[in-house]
Amino acid sequence: MSTPLADRYHTVKAALHPGVTLVAVSKTRTVAEIGALYALGQRDFGENYPQELREKAALLPRDIRWHFIGHLQRSNARHVVPLAHLVHGVDSARLATEIDKRAKAEGRIVDVLLQVHIAQEETKHGLSADELREAVRTWSWAAWDGLRVRGLMGMASNTDDRLQVAREFKGLRELFDEIAAAGAPGPGPFDILSMGMSGDADLAMDAGSTLVRIGTALFGPRA
Ligand SMILES: *Cc1c(COP(=O)(O)O)cnc(C)c1O
Repeated sequence: MSTPLADRYHTVKAALHPGVTLVAVSKTRTVAEIGALYALGQRDFGENYPQELREKAALLPRDIRWHFIGHLQRSNARHVVPLAHLVHGVDSARLATEIDKRAKAEGRIVDVLLQVHIAQEETKHGLSADELREAVRTWSWAAWDGLRVRGLMGMASNTDDRLQVAREFKGLRELFDEIAAAGAPGPGPFDILSMGMSGDADLAMDAGSTLVRIGTALFGPRA
């Protein structure tokens, strides 16, 4: 059956480069909207807020892979770790320590991405390129056997300047390759590069993204 959601889903999927994972960003969307996309076959969903994630996960099918894509506060790690398939926004050793602790308490290993600040805006979270290199060298990777660093995540500047956005994604891709080549932290595999949203997923994939996080292009504008 053709519905607006189904049409948008097929359009988004048709534009994915081979091998790229689609995470449907479902923050602010209802359980019914998520359920409708699930019924079309989507399994990876992204949430930004711990409380919203908990409420939705309790009501939706267990085989959904929940991606935590927001800024995670340490105090909320205990709510997110039991539910998350992948935590995208790790940008401090203290947060990594907390995730590791909670993962061990759950008897599981949690996959995480290190967030890199690539945008011009001041407000976005994430490590600078130099902080990332330093983190790879000096954080307590060997002690954190409750987590696995699977790659990097970044958000480009919120601008109409497509050249600028393309440059930022290319920079993140080069950083990803540099770290992969030098020996990624922990056991790996280091194979996920999370970049690209509704407005810039095409540029992100051109630059080598392996995972795009798409909300608006699937569900329509957020209220
Ligand atoms: C909201 C959000 C997205 C999705 O943005 P859209 O423009 O709606 O596709 C992607 N990534 C992060 C981190 C977000 O917070």
